Amino acid sequence: MSRLMRFVCACAVCLMVAAPIFGQKKPFHVLAFYSTTVEQDHVDFAMQAIPFFQAMAARDDFEFKTTKNWNDMNAEVLSHYQVVMWLDDRPSTPAQRLAFQNYMEHGGGWLGFHIAGYMSGREEWPWFADFIGTVFSGNNWPPLPAKIDVDDPDHPVTKGFPVSYTSPANEWYSWNPDPRLSSGIKVLMTLDPSNYPIGFKNTLTHGDIPLTWTNTKYRMLYTNMGHGKKIFDSKLQNSFFENALLWLGGRMR
Ligand code: ZN
Repeated sequence: MSRLMRFVCACAVCLMVAAPIFGQKKPFHVLAFYSTTVEQDHVDFAMQAIPFFQAMAARDDFEFKTTKNWNDMNAEVLSHYQVVMWLDDRPSTPAQRLAFQNYMEHGGGWLGFHIAGYMSGREEWPWFADFIGTVFSGNNWPPLPAKIDVDDPDHPVTKGFPVSYTSPANEWYSWNPDPRLSSGIKVLMTLDPSNYPIGFKNTLTHGDIPLTWTNTKYRMLYTNMGHGKKIFDSKLQNSFFENALLWLGGRMR
């Protein structure tokens, strides 16, 4: 073999070894909590969300696991994951809640959907009220599509989004106090006022209604979407869900 050929071969080997390293995406592990004993529309959402994120995990090369056992919300289990997801339910015992608080206060990531942000009152879990920056106040009924304003099209999770889009039918929540005014909260999506009044049995009529936000003191994102079988009908909105998880997983796009 000539000296030149030896050099070419050596370079080729170098490239073969280096390519997977340079091409590698930063690995991360996600654990999604869900329940099958809650409101049927919330079960339906979880049943669609799980295959959606499983397919995404295969495409984007991260681990996505699920559990119905909320007692998995403990320090040992959580230590294996960079992001936990609450697919339309929330922890109910003091031990589960304390484990989640410790996890978040030590760099854990959280993606909460819809009723994940619900509380009957601040006194139910004061730490969570500060974490999410507000308390549930009201809702519309029945679920309806809505025009949504994108507050920051430069944020990684909404990068390149139009200033507004139509979101598929969802049960929309209002909040008190306004999370936008809470310490550390950065709102990313808001219910456009042109939707008012929205609902028939229960109606949202006025006010500032943020739908998606992050508390910049934590690695977290809450979004109000998550009621029923229509949530994944919007390609654009689906890309927001994907961006949100990649952002929390430490992969910026
Ligand atoms: Zn709901």
